[in-house]
Amino acid sequence: MSRFEGLKLRKYLPPEEGEAIRSGADGIEVPDKPVIPFIEGDGVGPDITKTMRKVIDKAVSAAYGTKRRLVWWEIFAGEKSYDRFGEWLPQDTLDAVKYFKVAIKGPLTTPVGGGIRSLNVAIRHNLDLYACVRPVRYFAGVPAPLKHPEDIDITVFRENTEDVYAGIEWEAGSPEAQKFISFLDKEMGKTLRPDSGIGVKPISEHATRRLMRMALRHALQTGKKSITIVHKGNIMKFTEGAFRKWCYETAANEFTDVTVTEEEAAMYNRKVPEGKILVKDRIADAMFQQILLRPGEYDILVTPNLNGDYLSDALAAAVGGLGLAPGANMSGEIAFFEATHGTAPKYAGMDKVNPGSLILSAVMMLEHLGWHEAAVLVTRSMEETIGSGIVTYDLARQMEGAKEVSCSGFAEAVCENIAKSAS
Ligand code: NAP
Repeated sequence: MSRFEGLKLRKYLPPEEGEAIRSGADGIEVPDKPVIPFIEGDGVGPDITKTMRKVIDKAVSAAYGTKRRLVWWEIFAGEKSYDRFGEWLPQDTLDAVKYFKVAIKGPLTTPVGGGIRSLNVAIRHNLDLYACVRPVRYFAGVPAPLKHPEDIDITVFRENTEDVYAGIEWEAGSPEAQKFISFLDKEMGKTLRPDSGIGVKPISEHATRRLMRMALRHALQTGKKSITIVHKGNIMKFTEGAFRKWCYETAANEFTDVTVTEEEAAMYNRKVPEGKILVKDRIADAMFQQILLRPGEYDILVTPNLNGDYLSDALAAAVGGLGLAPGANMSGEIAFFEATHGTAPKYAGMDKVNPGSLILSAVMMLEHLGWHEAAVLVTRSMEETIGSGIVTYDLARQMEGAKEVSCSGFAEAVCENIAKSAS
């Protein structure tokens, strides 16, 4: 019998210590020793995961002594899972994340053949992780293309399940594409070239509203001042235009007392009343200009899938690249944190790459658990470490006078700064 009621695993054993995070009336209830399932990842995954755990454990113990501790529990996906169990993504892994509600992962190789388009997509789909959340901020000292990268402190909430990523596509000339083209012609009076490939772009009211709700709750919890709906509704009226409309409606109907639109703010001389969140919208192409020209005017972006994909990476580039960009895929119930880069196979096992993305994803995780003191300790110590020029090769090659350290060397430096901050 499992120590964890209702958790049935077939391939590997449940953890021997720790307690499960549970849903509470107001979010999650976090015990002092929560079980945190983690997937090590492929390629550089083992290096950065080991490093991340060391830094996070150090911060938790510095912040809470022996009162609190994360109970890390390895679960499997990717190459390690295939080698052990002959499966890329065992059902146990999905069940474990569902059960324990908060998990973290390194990057995973996309298997060639075997019927899986991408393990990440399969995980998101199976667990209905409908929001991809990416906070982007600048670390002083990191080379960045903007004059004032420090003005960027923006969190992107990208819809994860719909839009042209829904996976509904037919190759040009296939029987399905021909049938679709003929249907459009005969039934809808719309003509397409017969040699067209076809993709479908669904955007639903349900998926849009739940994403906007999550962004609004986040703004309330973190005291953010504005949410910007990003869309291309001037052209795609019934998909992206509807996205804009449903987002505004969600704010107006469900968050009436705490939100104000730009039009409403105009009545107060454009001053947003104290305690209210400004809800505005921008057309996607203009938004790409805004993140370069006036990023300080934006706190949270809510976007459909494709634009969110582009915007997240463009923002990460504006502050110096993906090496320090954290992320999470979330549903109302589950939060799965991850490194945003890939497996960088040529550096596998070399203890070389920048662990910053995964460490900062774990910082997001600490915030999600409500362990703010530990989260602040890690962030501050990373600022100090990078600020003093101690960085991995990727940053060292662009920074004058930097001291290049290994992946684990970076962790050691961050841990030293944590110890100093805490003493
Ligand atoms: P990648 O693994 O992100 O690596 C591309 C380049 O980015 C690396 O060669 C390296 O640049 C730099 N880089 C990546 N991570 C870094 C880190 N932590 N520190 C410093 N530099 C880093 O992209 P890819 O080569 O296109 O993809 C490889 C595999 O990863 C593929 O199988 C892909 O499907 C998978 N992937 C997985 C995820 C995920 O699990 N979330 C995401 C993306 C891709 P330099 O060579 O210039 O040093």
